[in-house]
Amino acid sequence: MKEKQETDAFENVKDQIGFCGIWCGSCVVGNGVLRELTKRYKELINAYDLKDWAPKDFDFGEFYKGLESIQSMSLCPGCLKGGGRDDCEIRACATEKGLEDCTLCKQFGRCKLELLEYMRSGARKAGLFVKNQDEDRREAVQRWMSELQAKWPCCILFTSDKP
Ligand code: SF4
Ligand code: SF4
Repeated sequence: MKEKQETDAFENVKDQIGFCGIWCGSCVVGNGVLRELTKRYKELINAYDLKDWAPKDFDFGEFYKGLESIQSMSLCPGCLKGGGRDDCEIRACATEKGLEDCTLCKQFGRCKLELLEYMRSGARKAGLFVKNQDEDRREAVQRWMSELQAKWPCCILFTSDKP
């Protein structure tokens, strides 16, 4: 059964698209997937008593501590609620200009040449969804929702809707 807390996490980020175009709904740090997967992985390890099987030189205690540490990480609240990169220059600049989306910006400086592209391509590489120029935000989120459900089985995508 899906954990309510993780369902809430997804509901919180699913309508948030960062100023750079990254969809927070597809980020495992905010949508609850990383924490839930880690929890289930730990349960599986316990159920199989894997510590008795691990190679002698493997520090199972440290490994276990790492899994617990990931589970205790706070869920990211999403870019529009102050999550994402601390002190993000892109967010600060777009907010100051009153823009909800950097693709609407007429300025063509270092941000567009380097920083924005760096963030967007890095996000795509990590499997996140990124909005293209002129794409309708609402339509993009709807399309991404179904793409995400096809990409991630329902057991790890904590939407409140049935797939
Ligand atoms: S914090 Fe910055 S890089 Fe992250 S999603 Fe928001 S605008 Fe993009
Ligand atoms: S100058 Fe424009 S494109 Fe660059 S970060 Fe600011 S709002 Fe975004």
